[in-house]
Amino acid sequence: MGFKSRVRKRRGNTGKGTSEDGDSEEYEGQIRCDIIECGNWADKKIGGRKMAYDRAVEVWGASGVSRKVRKVSLCKPCYRTWKKEKKGEPKEWVSKGKGPLGNAPPTSTPVRSFDQP
Ligand SMILES: [Zn+2]
Repeated sequence: MGFKSRVRKRRGNTGKGTSEDGDSEEYEGQIRCDIIECGNWADKKIGGRKMAYDRAVEVWGASGVSRKVRKVSLCKPCYRTWKKEKKGEPKEWVSKGKGPLGNAPPTSTPVRSFDQP
């Protein structure tokens, strides 16, 4: 084990050819993102994350997560999506201690398209 990392450090002009010329080509990882509609790699190396199944389900739903494991793997973009969802959600109703709850209706559809042509 010790050796290997040592050898790896010595990258350079040893004339081994250019096997890795582009990093955005086709990365081959080992862990797939567990979001069904995604299919990206979720390797740690490229920003993948592990997340509790329940938390992923909160965003994608049980049918959106491919495996029911305690910790699912998310690729970087999916993790971002998740983060975004989680951040954007509670804003409306989380106003703690600031006035009574139920002051503002949760879903008031603005019918404004007529006002401004
Ligand atoms: Zn993904």
